[in-house]
Amino acid sequence: MTSPLDQKLSAVLGGRTATSMQRGLGLVTVGDLMTHYPRRYARRGELTALAQLPLDEAVTIVAEVREVRNRPMRNKRGSILEVSISDGTGILTLTFFNQAWRATELSPGVRGIFAGKVGQYRGTRQLAHPDYELFDREALELKKPEQAKAWAEQPIPIYPATSTVASWQIQKAVEVVLDTLGPLEDPVPDAVGRDRELLPFAKALELVHRPTLDSEWRAARDALRFQEAFVLQSALLQQRQKQRESEAVARNSGSLLEEFDAALPFVLTGDQQTVGEQIFHDLAEPVPMNRLVQGEVGSGKTLVALRAMLAVAQSGGQSALLAPTEVLAHQHFRSIVRTLGPDLAARLRPTLITGQLPAAERKKALLATVSGASRIVIGTHALLGDAVSFVDLGLVVVDEQHRFGVDQREALRLKGAKPPHVLVLTATPIPRTVAMTVFGDLDISSIAELPAGRQPISSHVVPLAEKPGWVSRIWQRLAEELAVGRQGFVVCPAIDAKTPESGGEPSGAPGSTAASEDADAGPPRPIANVSEVLASLRSNAVLAGKRIEALHGKLPSGEKDELMRAFAAGDIDVLVATTVIEVGVDVPNASVMVVLDADRFGVSQLHQLRGRVGRGGVPGLCLFVTAAEVESLARERVEAVASTLDGFELANKDLELRREGDVLGGMQSGGRSSLKLLRVANDGQIIMEAREAAQALLASDPTLANHPALAEALRRRLDARAEAFLGKN
Ligand code: ADP
Ligand code: MG
Repeated sequence: MTSPLDQKLSAVLGGRTATSMQRGLGLVTVGDLMTHYPRRYARRGELTALAQLPLDEAVTIVAEVREVRNRPMRNKRGSILEVSISDGTGILTLTFFNQAWRATELSPGVRGIFAGKVGQYRGTRQLAHPDYELFDREALELKKPEQAKAWAEQPIPIYPATSTVASWQIQKAVEVVLDTLGPLEDPVPDAVGRDRELLPFAKALELVHRPTLDSEWRAARDALRFQEAFVLQSALLQQRQKQRESEAVARNSGSLLEEFDAALPFVLTGDQQTVGEQIFHDLAEPVPMNRLVQGEVGSGKTLVALRAMLAVAQSGGQSALLAPTEVLAHQHFRSIVRTLGPDLAARLRPTLITGQLPAAERKKALLATVSGASRIVIGTHALLGDAVSFVDLGLVVVDEQHRFGVDQREALRLKGAKPPHVLVLTATPIPRTVAMTVFGDLDISSIAELPAGRQPISSHVVPLAEKPGWVSRIWQRLAEELAVGRQGFVVCPAIDAKTPESGGEPSGAPGSTAASEDADAGPPRPIANVSEVLASLRSNAVLAGKRIEALHGKLPSGEKDELMRAFAAGDIDVLVATTVIEVGVDVPNASVMVVLDADRFGVSQLHQLRGRVGRGGVPGLCLFVTAAEVESLARERVEAVASTLDGFELANKDLELRREGDVLGGMQSGGRSSLKLLRVANDGQIIMEAREAAQALLASDPTLANHPALAEALRRRLDARAEAFLGKN
């Protein structure tokens, strides 16, 4: 049985309409169109507030025609028709070139929906060549007063539209489809829907697209939103179930771990201990572990991972540690060798494989890996390459998950004879609901506790907008720290004047927000860059005699590594850097960090950066320098980070300040497989309830044999994802 939702639009709509739906919006099937939900609802009787329209964005608005004027063009032949429309207070001008005939339909008093991109011309806002659909005024005038009232109040769906397909064209296509839609099975089982008093699926689709009252589309959205959460959670849980069905090699820890623990110069924190137990329990099972460890910056996740590697090595298994950058891979390598101590290091032969290794070294490293001599292999993306093969890959550790996609995890998974156990580490605290949505196929452990003796980091905002004179005090403060033998970082958003962003380092892309906010604030101020800051610090008298170096993503890998090594050894006093140092860099003697143009970074980036100081026994100091105005969003972000050290609180704040797509990264945003009505930031309760319901259902019917509609919905979702994935290659 195929669902009506799988029907091609071309079979239901006219060929031309179907083509424009596909070209303009990527909608191919009836299901695609039915889940292209209205973004909002307008009313004929209620005009859109024109004063708040954003510049340069495509808008769809309800307004009334005020005045119409046709005049010859000044410098060219032809005429220009100017139509002012109004919401009662604000005015917007529509302009049409050589289309005087439109004056007959756009007469004063007529209302309609207008769509176009908001531009500005000589200080007034305008829509050039907008599309519009006028409301049928005569039809209204014939109606009785109560009919007129209903007409004016009826919600009009406003769809996400494009320059080629207007909202009302989508609305018409939707209506055609709704009128011919056959009976639909509800993926949400009756009992679940009844408990939650949800509208049945078909009814919900009808009312989300064709409501007569606001309460109707609200109820419809509730039902569809729950359905979305339910299908998503069922998919994730089923995926997890499948992983559990595959077989892995059980690994029991033994003498290697005991030896290691006995030699540790410190005691494990309670959380490290607990998470360790969870991991060893997973590893001892003959099914692949899939665990995410999220822990505060500096909470000692690497150690937790290393202990897992020792357990795997006990039975001769190999572990691969995947780091997001060369700098981090090198650092992990060094710190693992050091932490293991000479004896264990000699037996386990930790090996580094990165893309920029000299050929001879690379060959040696590959040999150590393929022969099984190396039980711990550390690397960057290069580890994913075909050249790297293992004898007995038992564990894959992915450090700083947010830089790695599912696909890359998958590639490594395929390198073992049997699927290896997978441990994902992240220092970006993930709100529970996001974790459930994005990592719903993983088990989650948390390390909240920091090792004893950690000194708190004090964070301050240096607001140059109000206190421009404080610049010199920043360098004074840095000099004071250096004077007592500490080291510092100075972080810039750019490498040089010509390389505005952080030089190819993947970033949370917050800069764009800040930039657009500043759009009206006059000529853009140059942003701090590594090369200029380096020059100015080197010539700054208060820092005389100090060794100051630059570190950024454009440097050759060997040089980066050399700089990090020299910094760690205390030979460099100050590193002027981009966000290359954002994740994982661990130099306990570094006590001060100055982040210039801090508003150019995102909340979690700033939190990560700050985590680079205060890692030893010395208190950390972090100065967030910003020229952003008080109460701007950019300033708010920086203030938020300065106000707390709690990563989870910040993650929630971040979620509020950011858009959904950013939160979910490439995993859920965009494309036909993306979230439609569900908003992880607001719908935590729904997500949790949907997960519970899905869990109960899968427990009683693991293959979904008795729930064909849900099975169909899962298949449809998988198809869409597969398509999105294939489309990328
Ligand atoms: P992160 O969780 O940020 O990756 P790391 O694993 O880099 O943290 O650990 C940060 C520092 O803390 C390292 O120098 C590590 O040796 C040290 N460390 C880890 N666990 C403990 C502990 N239980 N007690 C003291 N220091 C620890
Ligand atoms: Mg780390």
